[in-house]
Amino acid sequence: MTKKIKKILIANRGEIAVRIMRTCRDLGIKTVAVFSEADRVALHVQMADEAYCIGPEASSESYLVASKIIEVAKKSGACAIHPGYGFLSEKAHFSKACAENGIIFLGPKPKSIEQMGDKIEARIAAAKAKVPMVPGTQEPLKDVDEAKSLAKRMGYPILLKATAGGGGKGMRVVEKEGDIASAFERASSEALKAFGDGQLYIEKYLKKARHIEIQVACDMHGNSIHLFERECSLQRRHQKVIEEAPSPFLNQATRDKMTEAALRLCKDVNYSGVGTIEFLVDEEQNFYFLEMNTRLQVEHPVTEMITGVDLVELQIRIGEGEKLPIKQSDLKINGAAVECRLYAEDPENNFMPSPGTIHWMTIPEGPGVRHDTAVYPGAAIPIYYDPMIAKLITWGSNRNQAIVRMQRAMQEYEIGGFKNNIGFLRTILFHPEFHRGNIYTRFIEDHPELMKVEKSLEGLPPEVLVGIAAFMREENKNQTSGVQTKSEAVVSPWKLIGLTGSLRK
Ligand code: ADP
Repeated sequence: MTKKIKKILIANRGEIAVRIMRTCRDLGIKTVAVFSEADRVALHVQMADEAYCIGPEASSESYLVASKIIEVAKKSGACAIHPGYGFLSEKAHFSKACAENGIIFLGPKPKSIEQMGDKIEARIAAAKAKVPMVPGTQEPLKDVDEAKSLAKRMGYPILLKATAGGGGKGMRVVEKEGDIASAFERASSEALKAFGDGQLYIEKYLKKARHIEIQVACDMHGNSIHLFERECSLQRRHQKVIEEAPSPFLNQATRDKMTEAALRLCKDVNYSGVGTIEFLVDEEQNFYFLEMNTRLQVEHPVTEMITGVDLVELQIRIGEGEKLPIKQSDLKINGAAVECRLYAEDPENNFMPSPGTIHWMTIPEGPGVRHDTAVYPGAAIPIYYDPMIAKLITWGSNRNQAIVRMQRAMQEYEIGGFKNNIGFLRTILFHPEFHRGNIYTRFIEDHPELMKVEKSLEGLPPEVLVGIAAFMREENKNQTSGVQTKSEAVVSPWKLIGLTGSLRK
């Protein structure tokens, strides 16, 4: 039975709430926003057809309180709730509470969230579906002694991971036995603080791996499709920084095996909704199951750009009980897309969050550019939530064009008012190894020069300078190929390579 959704409550804030509302508008669906006291003038509140305050700034008293959100849904007559990502999006109790109140949860059934949200349960399910896995445990570790003896058997390095983990928290790489006790303690207490659950498990640590994930969509009638892969190997402290689709590394045979494994797992657990199966892939294209995310991912736009599919629309149609409107054979990879995550954080101070008010901003536009954000000049980035400012996405008919467009767009991007990671992103985008697609999850850690380019060109390895020069415009050649004086070098490298134009203040 299909049920047309007329009004959706978006149980989230920031760019993702705005992004979901845009699809609702496209579909003629009314929107209901919920907001905390810190978000009274937030864009998602201004954009919604109706908006309701659900409590004070702390998310534990507002965006995480399922009962308040359900109450607003009932009061406003919203028949469905979209949870976005983060907050309640992977909480089985929320999906259950929606069902109990006759509200459509635009995500999977509570059982799927329970099963795939817990990393140990997910590993068990993946093993059952014969999906290859990183060697490791199927049960939480009892204590550090058990960790020690397992690590000895597996061989170092190993990774201690929180069973309830997410966002790279509660994770510690251990290189040798002497470090395991303190790492165990720190990972466990970090996990306890972040997730209220300090249990850990152990995996063999893959030193030079890529993070490649498969986007899937399954309806309630047993039909499922994949929407290819996203490569998310550019990470800092196990958190994604730049993502792209398709992966510049996968060959078609591996792609076929990975997508087949992802869909097999979904079938096995009777999954419905959109979801992502994350894998690590080694240099020989062997792939290993990492985890499943039972929600829309932050980086979903790169998939939308290369497939032309609106994943939020797909979530709504699946939630309505429709059959998937797309067949696998309809889907093709069209070109390439890159996404950069812009954060209010200070790269010179260990990437500390740097909230504040946006005094002014110059937003890039032009061919192939998509900008997903909820900020505007005068808007505040509150201290209470994730300090992401925006996602900038570019599309090109091939990877090179997508990257060049991203370089151009990021060079136009300016934000005044607080520290941000724009300069850091630019240095990565111009790194020749990134351009060649030679990336892996420790790429940023292994290239400390990435921290320096925006401040000064001095001391950079020659290949970085060569990479920068490669994008130099013909008419500005003299400026870069000539000898740089010290005072020139401390000016933005963008000016030196002639890409600055008049936008840069
Ligand atoms: P979280 O849910 O906290 O994001 P994941 O299991 O998805 O944790 O892993 C996040 C990142 O940590 C991966 O993308 C990868 O960079 C790194 N990682 C996780 N497990 C391993 C492993 N066994 N070997 C090497 N790197 C790993």
